[in-house]
Amino acid sequence: MLRIALPNKGRLSDDARELFGDAGLEVRSTGTRALTASLGGEFEALFVRAQDIPEFVADGAADAGVTGWDLVCESGRALDTLVDLEFGRCRLVVAAREESGVDKLADIAPGARVATVYPRLTARYFADRGSAIEVVPVSGAVEIAPHIGIADVIVDLTSTGSTLKVNGLREIETVLESTARLFVARDAVASASAARRRSMDELTAALTSVLRARGKRYLMANVPRTALDEVTRVLPGLNGPTVIDVLNGGVHVAVHAVVSASTIYRTIAELKALGAVGILVTRIERLMP
Ligand code: AMP
Repeated sequence: MLRIALPNKGRLSDDARELFGDAGLEVRSTGTRALTASLGGEFEALFVRAQDIPEFVADGAADAGVTGWDLVCESGRALDTLVDLEFGRCRLVVAAREESGVDKLADIAPGARVATVYPRLTARYFADRGSAIEVVPVSGAVEIAPHIGIADVIVDLTSTGSTLKVNGLREIETVLESTARLFVARDAVASASAARRRSMDELTAALTSVLRARGKRYLMANVPRTALDEVTRVLPGLNGPTVIDVLNGGVHVAVHAVVSASTIYRTIAELKALGAVGILVTRIERLMP
């Protein structure tokens, strides 16, 4: 049975559990603080700190892992993404005090001290740009470093930007864009047995089908038969809409199609303008085109 390392607490943990649950691999733990649990009877989950997951996967303690791409990159280990899980979206940015006069990277003086929880990514980012800075590794509360005189600028994660703003900091540049990923050790796929590889492919397919479905809706409507050409333009669907006869004298036909969730409001308005009635929209659990 494949062992998947998952974050043991916080937002990443909650979102990972929800995604695996939606894919039919719900966490069945024996206790609230259990280190391992079954994932739908198909896989074994190993709950560990998000920061430790890249190491565990690289060392073979787990066959695959879920954690932020920022942590995977910071680990410097040879790991490959199988699926971008799309949650935990954030950016690692360079930020400076509002009143520091630092607006761009070139304003950061040689020898400047840069506080961060990401020393490896920070050192590489500045080295690649020929900027000689001194990395000040910290383990948290990075935002206060410039205010207490231990650093001139910081490299830290942001998602909404409100924490930086509240702390009087301004974003200068993006170092890395991150989301949660399902990943494996680079050499693991090549050396895995056929059964293990099939198991990993099934996991990838299950998670991908849920992610794909999240951005889609299934729409059904009765439309005038005479408007079918225009309706097909509004509802391209996956392979064009499914058209079904309605036994009401042939005036209407039922159309079914998978549509984008983000534009559903516009789609409904356009269908109504074409005389559609009985419009019904449902969520899709999984989508395997
Ligand atoms: P913000 O939404 O920019 O105010 O970020 C709030 C705090 O959460 C900041 O201190 C970030 O370091 C942290 N943060 C934001 N997004 C993530 C993420 N995806 N993973 C881990 N930490 C995050």
